[in-house]
Amino acid sequence: MATQSVFGWGPLVALGLIVLIAYATTYCHQVGKATLWSDALFVTWVTTVVVVLYSFFKSIYVGPGFVPLKWRPKDEANIERLTYCHICEGYKAPRSHHCRQCGRCVKVLDHHCPWINSCVGNDNKVYFLLFVTSVPIGCVYSAVKCVLFLIRYYQTMFSVQHARYFGYRLTPGRFAFVICGGAAALGVALAVAMLAVIQIKSILKNKTDIEGWIDDKAKRVTKKSKTPFIFPYDLGWRNNIKEVMRQSVRRDGINWAVREGCTNYDMSQAQLWQKRTHAQYRYTFKVKTRPGRWGWRMGWRILCSCPWTQATIDLQPGDLMHAWRQRGKWYCGEKVRVENGMIRTVYPLHRGWFPIAAVEEVDLQLPYDYRGDGLFLQPPPTANDDDDNSEGGDDEAEQDEQGKEAAQGQQPRQRRANGQDKQQKQPQKQPQKQQQTQQQQNRHQHQAQKQKENKKRK
Ligand SMILES: [Zn+2]
Ligand SMILES: [Zn+2]
Repeated sequence: MATQSVFGWGPLVALGLIVLIAYATTYCHQVGKATLWSDALFVTWVTTVVVVLYSFFKSIYVGPGFVPLKWRPKDEANIERLTYCHICEGYKAPRSHHCRQCGRCVKVLDHHCPWINSCVGNDNKVYFLLFVTSVPIGCVYSAVKCVLFLIRYYQTMFSVQHARYFGYRLTPGRFAFVICGGAAALGVALAVAMLAVIQIKSILKNKTDIEGWIDDKAKRVTKKSKTPFIFPYDLGWRNNIKEVMRQSVRRDGINWAVREGCTNYDMSQAQLWQKRTHAQYRYTFKVKTRPGRWGWRMGWRILCSCPWTQATIDLQPGDLMHAWRQRGKWYCGEKVRVENGMIRTVYPLHRGWFPIAAVEEVDLQLPYDYRGDGLFLQPPPTANDDDDNSEGGDDEAEQDEQGKEAAQGQQPRQRRANGQDKQQKQPQKQPQKQQQTQQQQNRHQHQAQKQKENKKRK
């Protein structure tokens, strides 16, 4: 659940590091020869530490900005272009994704950061940027200070100055403290500087990593079509900075300015399409026997071929599983259930690798609820709808953490020109009956397609 508290291992370790580095730096400053220049630098550094602490606590307590529970778009017509979140019981607002650790849909989810025990999202973006840029500045000063201290220590080792500088004050404990502080400062400076570069890049492009995956796939699939996918939020780097800062300060993060000819729902729609296509490459299995974690109950051959670097899951006999990927004697998939004539993902997610020998395929002839809200809408026609690129999609499913389910599947809906947009929106206003028949039709289509695929596989 969304904790937003400093009392977690991440923030406490981060605070511990800040105290260690700050203590070592202050100590080195005291022992060194005081000049106006070094004092001025020291005061600047203290200011930086204040900024680090301020932005750190602000990042935690402002939080990433959660989409309100049971959120729906103002214009109901846009529901068709959104995925539904079962846990938040609402639609996923444009640019939002569900974070498993926080247990909520997060506006413009960047990543879940264990050091602040929260997500980095729209609302705390400004503070997080301040944090990741001020930390390397402060740490570089600290590292230099500690290194100079140690150099001076050795240089004066055999001179009279040594006793004056170090002789009375430097205990072995403090000496070790300076070494630890310097090493920590150097490590933290490098690691956080890398994070800062990623953050700055994402602001210049106004695109998160998750959106990068969706965008890449959408562009790849619509490359040859007349209306290739355009990432709607890239307004040029200057405007991107302005827009990201504006959204973050105002804490909106839902109603974004978009490029000409694009809409705020293009990304959600591309994601929905990728999910829909991905749904076609899911196969249903029933669990025969319990394999145990890493498949240890299934014999040494299976245990040895276990994908160790990936998440593996245990299964219970009778469970229904979906799988979309195979490697050797293992499938990658998740637990599902049947509800109202549709197959739905079980939450909390039970996803990972399991042994093929523990399950048997069943053909339920039921569609998968890729939208998550029980509706199975007629897919809108596109130029290359039947363009099959089954090689994609599944790779990213493995990376699925922190609500990055976004990366699955392929075949996004192409961006449409304004004129076409209105025309194609019409089916949304159809009476319910008609929609139901569409759903049925679609189910038949789906079944036919699945049978075809099954034949192909055999
Ligand atoms: Zn959610
Ligand atoms: Zn989170």
